[in-house]
Amino acid sequence: MNAVTPQIYVGTSISPGLAEGPLHVGDPLGGYFDGWFANDLGPHDSDEEISRLDRATLSISEELLALAEKVEREIDAKLAQVFSVHHILLEDASLKAELRREITENLVSAGSAVKTVFLRWENRFLLMESQIARDKGDDMRDLSRRLRGALAGISAHPLEDIPEGCVLVAMRLLPSDTMILRSRSTAAVLLEYGSHGSHSALFAREMGLPCISGLAGLVATKPIGAHSLVEADHGKVTIHPARNQVEEFHAEVRRKKAASRLALEHAKGPALTRDRVRIAVMANVGNADDTRMAIESGAEGVGLYRIEQAYIGRSQPPSAEELFEEMQQSLAPAQGMPVCVRLLDIGADKPLPFLGFLAESNPSLGRRGIRLLLEYPELLDTQLRTILKLAGHFDLSVLVPMVSVAGDMLAVRERLHAIATRQQIKKLPPVGAMLETPAAVLDMQEIARHSDFVSFGTNDLTQYAFAADRENAAVERYFDDASDVIFRLLRMGCEEASDLAVSLCGELAGRPDQISRILKCGIRTLSVAPPLIPAIKGAIRDCTLSHQP
Ligand code: PEP
Ligand code: MG
Repeated sequence: MNAVTPQIYVGTSISPGLAEGPLHVGDPLGGYFDGWFANDLGPHDSDEEISRLDRATLSISEELLALAEKVEREIDAKLAQVFSVHHILLEDASLKAELRREITENLVSAGSAVKTVFLRWENRFLLMESQIARDKGDDMRDLSRRLRGALAGISAHPLEDIPEGCVLVAMRLLPSDTMILRSRSTAAVLLEYGSHGSHSALFAREMGLPCISGLAGLVATKPIGAHSLVEADHGKVTIHPARNQVEEFHAEVRRKKAASRLALEHAKGPALTRDRVRIAVMANVGNADDTRMAIESGAEGVGLYRIEQAYIGRSQPPSAEELFEEMQQSLAPAQGMPVCVRLLDIGADKPLPFLGFLAESNPSLGRRGIRLLLEYPELLDTQLRTILKLAGHFDLSVLVPMVSVAGDMLAVRERLHAIATRQQIKKLPPVGAMLETPAAVLDMQEIARHSDFVSFGTNDLTQYAFAADRENAAVERYFDDASDVIFRLLRMGCEEASDLAVSLCGELAGRPDQISRILKCGIRTLSVAPPLIPAIKGAIRDCTLSHQP
């Protein structure tokens, strides 16, 4: 087929999937902006440079808000937040002051000031330990590129020339690059650098774009146009594949398609284990598209509604009416089914524009989830009022995020009760605790006294049990949500919950290979991302619970 020897590279899987296509080497970081800006301006030019900077900032600011809206509409509200945060960073007063100082004190052009100051900020973030801070380094670089492009009157993106359907090879990817890749139906992305938890990685997974990182030295080989087979689940790419490798790859693609078709056909039916134990399979959703897809894929309700989407990208928190409208629309496809609404789980690492930055040195251990809501009771009250109103239309329950002490549950119950009494509502929706901290699991008996049900959030439970930031690739090997440690916590929680209904809504629930272990802990309700429902129901049907080894 071809005389070139096949080359196999193995990196880290960032976003799964199979893809093939010709390689295209791109430079999304856009180094070509350098050198366009004169550094030696006379002092009389400073005012003009500051006005140019202000105009460019304003236009980028508007562009970012529009982009956040587009991402929220077309992809995902959580991801839209990436661009809302870019907007907040751009409007940061100290950044603006530093840019002005750079222009007036060093007598440089606006473009040059942007380059220097943003690089300084990027380096500051890159030196920090947490992945969240290092993501901000990428954000600064993304913003710098945008702003310098605007100052130079250039709207073209550095990846604008990427051909349709190719596999992109690059050093690194910035969040807004993924939007270009989407518009070009890019087959896959191969990176030298990039962590599993980075914003670009989140975008790739949400868009179903296969992506591998850690492929050191690939860019330098300049494999332009070479045919490639990407097996992103295993972090493997084969360049210049031999005929038999291509045939095996195509057979694997056909096998996967057939398996998912079969799973989808059976997804609508109930999920019973071989020994006929009924397991409820629900969906984690954030908007109407998710809910629709979930129901079409066989979900028996919504196990986790992430309310965050109604808050992201807004300059003011939604009123109870706006929230009602948004939630009613998002949940409409699940009318008549059980729906579990989680209260706002936002914290210092996921800032909301109207709260500003809550500077905390350790945001994951700071004011997030219920802690933040108790500090801003008006945010909590609006949600509870809306939930009470929605309970007239849906079979609703309420989930409290980031519970670490029983007092968290007690506080929510008291607020709910007070609002319901004021509104003369007698029937309250069930209120459950999200078990995301080891303390909550260890204090299960006390928390159960104030909860109508509980749901394990194994993503955070794993992060807090292993003290391993769930978004930090550097400590990825410590973050093992299928470890015996986590399963001991699951078993302990189930035993101590006694009669309380227990569900699992972390990513662990979406892993077919772990379903048998999960069910053997006593969990009978799972909530997973909508596309995973057919496979999870299939895995449940393969389990036998009565003959434990
Ligand atoms: C979890 O922590 O497992 C969870 C489902 O919540 P989130 O991923 O939204 O933090
Ligand atoms: Mg969580």
